[in-house]
Amino acid sequence: METGDVIIIGSGPAAYTCAIYLKGRSVLLIEGGYVGNNGPGGQLTTTTTVDNYPCFPDGISGPDLVDLMVEHAAVATVSETASALTWRDNDDARVFEVVTEKGVHRARCVVIATGSAAKRLYVPGTHDNEFWNRGVSSCAVCDGWAFRDKVCCVIGGGDSAMEETTYIASIARAVYLVHRSEAFRARADMFARVQRLKNVTILTCRELVRATGTDKLEAIVLASTAGEEEIVIAVDGLFFGIGHVPNTSFLTEIDLSEGHVVTNAKMETSVRGVFACGDVQDKKYRQANTAAATGCIAALTAIDYCANH
Ligand code: NDP
Repeated sequence: METGDVIIIGSGPAAYTCAIYLKGRSVLLIEGGYVGNNGPGGQLTTTTTVDNYPCFPDGISGPDLVDLMVEHAAVATVSETASALTWRDNDDARVFEVVTEKGVHRARCVVIATGSAAKRLYVPGTHDNEFWNRGVSSCAVCDGWAFRDKVCCVIGGGDSAMEETTYIASIARAVYLVHRSEAFRARADMFARVQRLKNVTILTCRELVRATGTDKLEAIVLASTAGEEEIVIAVDGLFFGIGHVPNTSFLTEIDLSEGHVVTNAKMETSVRGVFACGDVQDKKYRQANTAAATGCIAALTAIDYCANH
């Protein structure tokens, strides 16, 4: 197989922005399969309205935004998932090999833009996936249709939990938003919107200790982090909105920090010729905008690299 200029691994805003800036070069984008609840296109595909991406003052749905990016990037793409990244040095040229379930792709440099996947809580009733997809989920947009007029619970205090709650509250009869403290880190306007929803009850200082049921989820047990008694709530659905873990398990020889790829301001990693952008290297901001911005930087650094190696 021919050695291209750049392989981009991933398919969210970081990956597509990177591809846009690499137009005219020999680029292959490996879009990835399902990790957690995200397939190709990444987390935006499970988001409802994105209201803070420039040029869309009225908001745009996450999947529509991804479609526009795919169309704009118009990059050669394979529907495969990377399982390993290796390299060998021939004289002064380094060649990277990305292994997927269908074979090996080679390039002079690699951009990692694999994003992150929704975290789950592992307690009795969820740790062996007992009720996974039988009441327990981490994606209201994907699975919410099954909960019309039912009772659901969302766990978390950040933007993901607010999004999950807002969405599922438009379908379910009643929703409990459960958070382990009284301090919500969600965007103020997103939290305020949830507070205004009449069918949402907010329970603070509560932690999930158990999920119970027979064939499907029927109830959850919540402990108190403020010294109160345990409570049991009958629910049909339980959604985790407790953050994300970076998709880096296939990377064995690149420096990571708490699972995130370590990069400098040029999006260079610890391995010469490997760059990373988007949520896979971002512990703090994790926005579609910041992913796109770092995708641009990674592409410009890759262009410099190709010119000099
Ligand atoms: P965050 O890390 O921001 O929030 C995670 C939440 O889950 C926190 O409230 C945290 O509690 C809670 N949590 C974490 N672990 C546990 C646990 N083991 N048990 C109980 N609760 C737990 O993650 P998000 O996914 O919400 O957001 C990530 C990033 O993505 C942010 O930058 C956010 O702005 C962005 N985002 C933006 C959206 C938008 O603009 N539309 C939508 C979704 C995400 P605690 O606060 O106590 O630590």
